[in-house]
Amino acid sequence: MRLSREMLRSELIKKVELISGEDISTCYQCGKCSAGCPLEAEMGILPHRVLRLLQLGREEEALDFPAIWLCASCHTCESRCPKGFDLSRVMEALRVIRLRSGHEALRPEELPAEVLARAPQQAIVSRYRKYTG
Ligand code: SF4
Ligand code: SF4
Repeated sequence: MRLSREMLRSELIKKVELISGEDISTCYQCGKCSAGCPLEAEMGILPHRVLRLLQLGREEEALDFPAIWLCASCHTCESRCPKGFDLSRVMEALRVIRLRSGHEALRPEELPAEVLARAPQQAIVSRYRKYTG
């Protein structure tokens, strides 16, 4: 039996690549993206390791890390990547897939009253957009 790249890609990986427009296999794990990520310490996993999990077919694990919700789409990783890979697009794709599966990362009714009263409206709206389906 001949194995092709197409056969090794799961439906979820195909979806990530379709939504993000990025080819997961182009990352060669140099780690330059993670070295510059301002939120790497909070993510629970180094950003380039999220890509490694996807390459290894462990996409369900990748979906469980806070990384996909904390990524600020700052594009520092893309500017440092020798391959021009836009990791923030993959993080966004993983968020979208998680939200479409029914997961809600933010429950508006659970926001403390003082946050609702004091946070800038723009910040609240942008959080709703990012964390709810
Ligand atoms: S900098 Fe680019 S090639 Fe290197 S690990 Fe990050 S995404 Fe992969
Ligand atoms: S876009 Fe996301 S993963 Fe990339 S450096 Fe910024 S916070 Fe980190």
